[in-house]
Amino acid sequence: MALLQITEPGQSVDPHQRKIAAGIDLGTTNSLIAIVRGGVPETLPIHQGTHLLPSVVRYKEELTIVGQSALDRAEEDPLNTVLSVKRMMGRGIGDIARIGKSLPYDFVSNESGMVKINTVAGDKSPIEISSEILKELVERANQSLPGDLDGVVITVPAYFDDSQRQATRDAARVAGLNVLRLLNEPTAAAVAYGLDSAYEGLVAVYDLGGGTFDISVLRLTRGVFEVVATGGDSALGGDDFDKCIAEWIITQADYSQELTPRQLRGVMLQARSSKEFLSTSDIADLDFTIDGLSFKGQLTRETMDELVAKLVVESINACRRVLRDAGEGKIGNVVLVGGSTRMHAVRQAVTEFFGVKPLVDIDPDRVIAVGAAVQADILIGNKPKDEMLLLDVLPLSLGLETMGGLAEKIIHRNTAIPASKSQEYTTYKDGQTAMLVHVVQGERELVADCRSLASFELRGIPAMVAGAARIEVNFQVDADGLLSVSAREITTGVNASVLVKPSYGLSDEEMSNML
Ligand code: ADP
Ligand code: MG
Repeated sequence: MALLQITEPGQSVDPHQRKIAAGIDLGTTNSLIAIVRGGVPETLPIHQGTHLLPSVVRYKEELTIVGQSALDRAEEDPLNTVLSVKRMMGRGIGDIARIGKSLPYDFVSNESGMVKINTVAGDKSPIEISSEILKELVERANQSLPGDLDGVVITVPAYFDDSQRQATRDAARVAGLNVLRLLNEPTAAAVAYGLDSAYEGLVAVYDLGGGTFDISVLRLTRGVFEVVATGGDSALGGDDFDKCIAEWIITQADYSQELTPRQLRGVMLQARSSKEFLSTSDIADLDFTIDGLSFKGQLTRETMDELVAKLVVESINACRRVLRDAGEGKIGNVVLVGGSTRMHAVRQAVTEFFGVKPLVDIDPDRVIAVGAAVQADILIGNKPKDEMLLLDVLPLSLGLETMGGLAEKIIHRNTAIPASKSQEYTTYKDGQTAMLVHVVQGERELVADCRSLASFELRGIPAMVAGAARIEVNFQVDADGLLSVSAREITTGVNASVLVKPSYGLSDEEMSNML
């Protein structure tokens, strides 16, 4: 959701003065970091040749473990091992009740209603947990960096709202990183393929990861990117494929007893590795024993494709809905993102549906980090000749609460950003000297159905008869998709303006405590 207007930075490209900027894909399942070296973007190794850092944080009393070793021993300590923290970013305790029924954590809420997880090391906010992932990424990447990082571009899903974006920025700040820009994931993917300079028209970005499916349609015109529509399913991903295969194994084996949670988890891991194996082979041999539970058999790719067919169709249905939202126009390019797009069944369905061969040359795990690195390199000023314009749109409408608990939209969904819009209001009582400005985001008519972003009071309105005061409320969305709202009374020239911070973000005090 960013308008990236890169003007002449006026900086030398003298190699000695080159700055180091990285692109970071802060993923639900895995995170990556990439830089541009010698004009070529590359992801950096994290551990023994792998480039993926599992987005998992385990809290112990004295230390914090991040990545593969935290994931490997996740069952040992489920309450203190946080997976998929991205789903909790910028969320309130109410949201968690809706999205997180299956989350095994001990949730608490802070003063502003923002969610925290109670661990042996204390209450941890999603911002702090994500900052641990960022710190670990940078620390590990440092070994292959020529110096300290001057700045980073971090990617976020196109549908992330203001508080989720703010939370991501805060996490980077806590990790001590200089955020050059937040970049939409689908936009990063298109940039990685260089579509910004080589193509004009509609691009679909199909992103199937571990737990989520995102589909976005971008429009590209002379280097201008516009997110035309986004959709998907926040509960569809590789984990669901694993579940289908695990169920198949359990049915085949016809076990007489109920599986323990450990056995179930073991079967899921077996399912996952055979699934991954089957993207390069036709047959997977299964032969395992977990706590006395054994299985021997073969899974063919054909059978697997049948098992997961329903899930693949679900993703295609979501694509159909997004295309409908996007309106006219033929998709000229399709970019595949996310580990699960290595599956043949997925590639085939996508090719058939869009009628074009998808772009797959860049590793689907790395494509977002690669695109972010390309952007970071430009933003930090390493490519002074380059000028690039990436235009994004607002995913959800922004508005105000008006009389009767109704939400009035000020900046509508799909408006190109940065954007600024003012609206005039008046007082409804004689002698009214203050007015409450409640900022909400969402498409629904009732405030109760929208997300509350912030509220503040405009005071010092001169006492007048009802309807005489003229109060102008101004909404401004910056290039990162972050919002500020101000209000002033214009008849008398008295003006008071307030900068709004999303209520789910960190207070300055919380932030300084963390720092
Ligand atoms: P996220 O975007 O959620 O962080 P990733 O894009 O890293 O996730 O995707 C992780 C998912 O990709 C996992 O479900 C994993 O099993 C799946 N995956 C990885 N490699 C393959 C493969 N070769 N074949 C099929 N699925 C794969
Ligand atoms: Mg991803």
